[in-house]
Amino acid sequence: MKPITYRGIARLCFSAASVIIAAGCAQSGPAPAAVNSTPPTTLPVGVRYRMSDCHLHLVDFLQHTDGINAAVAAMDKCGVEDAVVSGMPVVKEWAQNEHRRPEYYLSDDSRCYWYSATDVLVERQIESMPADQRHRIHPVICGFNGADRNAIEHVQRMVDWFPGFWEGIGEVMTRHDDLTALTYGDPARADNQALSSIFTFAGNHDLPIFLHSDIGSVWKRDPIYLPEVEAAVSAHPNTRFVWCHAGISRRIEIPTLTSDIGTMLKKYPNLWVDVSWVVYENDLLTKDGQPDAKWTALIEEFPDRFMIGSDKVGRFGDYPAEILKYYKFLDALKPETAKKLARENMLSVLPKHPAKLSDQESDLLNGRIPAGTELIK
Ligand SMILES: [Zn+2]
Repeated sequence: MKPITYRGIARLCFSAASVIIAAGCAQSGPAPAAVNSTPPTTLPVGVRYRMSDCHLHLVDFLQHTDGINAAVAAMDKCGVEDAVVSGMPVVKEWAQNEHRRPEYYLSDDSRCYWYSATDVLVERQIESMPADQRHRIHPVICGFNGADRNAIEHVQRMVDWFPGFWEGIGEVMTRHDDLTALTYGDPARADNQALSSIFTFAGNHDLPIFLHSDIGSVWKRDPIYLPEVEAAVSAHPNTRFVWCHAGISRRIEIPTLTSDIGTMLKKYPNLWVDVSWVVYENDLLTKDGQPDAKWTALIEEFPDRFMIGSDKVGRFGDYPAEILKYYKFLDALKPETAKKLARENMLSVLPKHPAKLSDQESDLLNGRIPAGTELIK
């Protein structure tokens, strides 16, 4: 059944945002590439693995995008059949004192602010897709400040507005080194109260959480933030967590990383690990660029628990290279393990059905019944 969407409301509320997006695309992005109307039946030349992408941002830090059709065309070039697709929860401000417009959060010293309309941008893009491609895209909600206890209402509102659409929540931004430092307001922590409500909601609605929490800082070599991730995962045993980038970010070096991750996976069956972005070059490969034996052993020990992502943000010209780079590592694994890492594990965390609110949840959210009414289970 086609999901009912409140597109009229969304258009009205976010018309200003869409004007900005349209302008952005016209200025800086090529027109979206056409998408074949049928999914690929054979793998393109040079493609040896059927893949899933657990981490694709449809928009960049200015909320610009090449478009969902360009993303799907890029996926087709490198054997990616399914992707978890999010927006970007923050916008990089173009500060008055900056002459050049920034395009990335590290472009200059200006700050980033939380931007909830990103989820509506994602919904509008996906709604516009050819119907026979739609099943390959798994949208997730990300446009909230995880340090704000109101954030749960944004998540509920997105599910209320677009019932039967969302398949997860993320990338939930908590500790993220430079990005944390550049974002307005208190940083979110994986174990704070605001996120606890969201993680409980996710568990109740069968939605996986894609959580970005650095395992440590850029200075210390200890996993000083690991206890926050552990507290979140252990307090929500009915919620599936995917730990983005295995807790790694630029300049974060943790000598105990593989044993820390192994301990967590042993203790918590509700935890998975995404090895997208810099963790691949910095950790999964040795300094000589070869698969690191510690990592191949860890992934063989937990073959069902790791997944691959592109972490591309809004632009998809170099998407195939970001996916094909994993071949070197996949080739070093047992073929069954490689298949799981490349494709199956990501599919295994998705919900049986995209989320919907119960009538009572919707009534409560929209003030049709008094705040504080106990929900019927
Ligand atoms: Zn990301």
